[in-house]
Amino acid sequence: MKTLKICHLYPDVLNLYGDRGNVTAIKKRLEWRGIGCEIVNANIGDKTDLRDCDIFFIGGGQDFEQEVLLKDIASGKGDAIKDAIESGKVFLAICAGYQILGKYYKTHTGEVCDFIGALDLYTVGQKKRMIGNYVYECELGGRKTEIVGFENHSGKTYLGEGVRPFGKILYGNGNNSEDKTEGARYKNVYATYAHGPVLPKNPYFTDELIRVALKNKYGDDAISELDDTFELAAHKYMVNRLIK
Ligand code: GLN
Repeated sequence: MKTLKICHLYPDVLNLYGDRGNVTAIKKRLEWRGIGCEIVNANIGDKTDLRDCDIFFIGGGQDFEQEVLLKDIASGKGDAIKDAIESGKVFLAICAGYQILGKYYKTHTGEVCDFIGALDLYTVGQKKRMIGNYVYECELGGRKTEIVGFENHSGKTYLGEGVRPFGKILYGNGNNSEDKTEGARYKNVYATYAHGPVLPKNPYFTDELIRVALKNKYGDDAISELDDTFELAAHKYMVNRLIK
């Protein structure tokens, strides 16, 4: 039986807005298809071997929680994460988890946290927070679609040459409420500000992550269709509420 191994990075520290629900969504959509799913945690101090993981998840957190991680990131986990990204492993990074993959985060009180530097981007914290339901358009598996989610961040993220936006804001703030970009894509990293958790209301996003990971591991990304009546009803309700 095919199996995918998910590494949940810092679940004890980065888990705002039930972001761990994204791991559950991936697990369920694998199991409903008869594909095995193993989950390993990589918390502060854990010596988890990241090399045989197929999908990585890193969730949201407050500024001080991000600062708590700095020592552990510098202890070698940051380099292991960078290696996993460069080798094409699938990453879903939400909000703080997204910011941490970048070069640095400057809090609104002026502290500069040097982060992993795996993605060419940086974030600058503001006094005013960007909060609310939002929707953005993006391309997944060659198909234009929308992602609905909930954002709550003070950080404004600016993308460098080495990354491209994940999507274009249709309603809400996105990366920085200035350039209409939202999130970032680099190799098989999918980074976004979307809490919610984002995956249950966007089933094809979940399936895109699964397809890429299956292709990486088995050379074949074929997956069976699932009955997404409820997921798509929730998705459609939010799209219609926000932009129709
Ligand atoms: N602390 C970061 C910010 O405020 C990330 C917040 C989050 O993960 N929701 O921008």
